[in-house]
Amino acid sequence: MSENDEKPPRCEFQFDPEVDSDLNSRVVFSEIAQPWRCPQVAEAKHNGEHLCLFHLPTSQKQPQDVQQRFVECVSQSGPEVKRFVGAKFEGITLPNVVLGSNDNNPIDLRHTTFENDVNIVGSTVSQPLFLTGAEIDGELKASGATFSGSLWAQHTELNGGISCSGAHFKESVNFRNTTFYKKSKFNECRFEEEASFYGCEFYTINDYSPEDPRLAKGIHQPVLISFTSSTFSEGANLNSCVFHGFLECKYVTSEGAFRLSKVEFLEKALSQQYVPEDIDWLC
Ligand SMILES: [Zn+2]
Repeated sequence: MSENDEKPPRCEFQFDPEVDSDLNSRVVFSEIAQPWRCPQVAEAKHNGEHLCLFHLPTSQKQPQDVQQRFVECVSQSGPEVKRFVGAKFEGITLPNVVLGSNDNNPIDLRHTTFENDVNIVGSTVSQPLFLTGAEIDGELKASGATFSGSLWAQHTELNGGISCSGAHFKESVNFRNTTFYKKSKFNECRFEEEASFYGCEFYTINDYSPEDPRLAKGIHQPVLISFTSSTFSEGANLNSCVFHGFLECKYVTSEGAFRLSKVEFLEKALSQQYVPEDIDWLC
């Protein structure tokens, strides 16, 4: 037996953007430009392929094992160990922790799928974070979180919406062409660099059941797409967004322009009444 045969097999997962993505990296800056092969050690075989803990289907692994390995990997130095392109997660529950290492390589979750919530409430993500092309079936819960590096989440499907009230984005945020279903709570956030929501689509759902006594009493509140009391140090770009619910921008402060041109307000989202008049917003 050669020395090679004794090594545990390497994960055979490959991501070829030509085949596996409909995003064009010449247009979508944060898309993968080159074919990529997973560097992780394989755990088991699936459909004849050796796959690592991240690329095995969720039915073949325990969520807590995946999460533990994820935390170990993101705390290590180097670029490849923090790449999880195309990984399959059940969900992540990592509130009030620090996620990251002592270098500046991104945590790369492009084209990953999450079947449940991603909960990083109160946590600090100390690396740049890539979520472009990812799909989160649960909610992205990031209230009170700190993002020390840039956040790239272009063409991401957030099927359970996002709650990130009180989050602090120290570098640029780019959600270009992302879809937010159910809810978008960006209350009391601090955006210290550019914040782009260009071309996003925002939906809301009313969480009240028909039997809810609050409905009968008429004291229910509409679910809002809310940026209330958020601060934008370099402005915000919401051009070409589509809103399927009320947009609330009460008490927003913006050093640069707050851009809202070519937006569409559909269905019940008929008004921009919550946009304050004293900010420099461009339509
Ligand atoms: Zn793998």
